[in-house]
Amino acid sequence: MRYAKSHFLLLALAGLLWSCQSIASQPSNPIPVETAALVRVTAVPSQPTAANTPILPPTQPPPFTPTPIPTVTANPTSLLTATPTHTPTATPIGPCEQRLPGDGLFTLVTLTYGLSRDYAPDDLVPLADYLPVGVTLGYPTEVRQMIVEPLVQMLNAMRDEGLQPRIISGYRSYSAQAIAWNKWVTEEPERAAIISAPPGFSEHQLGTTLDFGSPELAEIVGREEIQFHTYFYKTSEGIWLLNNAHRYGFSLSYPREAFELTGFYYEPWHYRYVGVELATQLHESGSFLTAYLLATQPLPCLP
Ligand SMILES: [Zn+2]
Repeated sequence: MRYAKSHFLLLALAGLLWSCQSIASQPSNPIPVETAALVRVTAVPSQPTAANTPILPPTQPPPFTPTPIPTVTANPTSLLTATPTHTPTATPIGPCEQRLPGDGLFTLVTLTYGLSRDYAPDDLVPLADYLPVGVTLGYPTEVRQMIVEPLVQMLNAMRDEGLQPRIISGYRSYSAQAIAWNKWVTEEPERAAIISAPPGFSEHQLGTTLDFGSPELAEIVGREEIQFHTYFYKTSEGIWLLNNAHRYGFSLSYPREAFELTGFYYEPWHYRYVGVELATQLHESGSFLTAYLLATQPLPCLP
């Protein structure tokens, strides 16, 4: 029942859409409006090279040190029904500089709680330095150095099983998101809030979030140029990630259940690094990061 409206919107708004997290409403109005469905940006370059060639960094990255995670609740299953008790007008707790605690690994990003235009990770690295073009598709994707090792390990595991994971998107700066947003506002003002997100309200600005692709998607969807589609959950790569990504510290940010709480529709391709411990807890409890943060952590300041 709760998804009837979203399904209607999906049908009504069927068509090619902008990239993931392409849903948005005004920051002051967290009511979700979105489609989630098809998105696509540029042509897909040629197929990957030897799919099972081990992916090894050309240089040895610093040892990966898991970051301690917040204390978890005694009963993780309670997260499933956790309901935030705040409203967007709640008094922020603490000064706004606390909105990015620690290394930003657990920063809350929703359509209510956004990121500053000034925020950018200081340890971004190009994935092309660590992964073959068959995985990066030749895109100049960047992520934070801190997630490179678990990411490469996960992709190696997938390729060892004969899969062909692709990375469509990683870090997106505030200004890059602003350009995309302005493009849609100019070209399709009536749909801008549905097919894009205002700058500052995307987890991609954190540099720890990735959008994955699959060579199977185009055939499943029936559109050669498709890169993002909810049917990613049907692909071999999507199935593997759903079942195994947590073992490498990556968590599905927007499962089907996340819509009412996050304002984002189901994005089976969108994973965020939160560390193995928390990712595993979320996976096993059927929860997701936003629900966990709203239920257990002090509210951040409003943007
Ligand atoms: Zn994404």
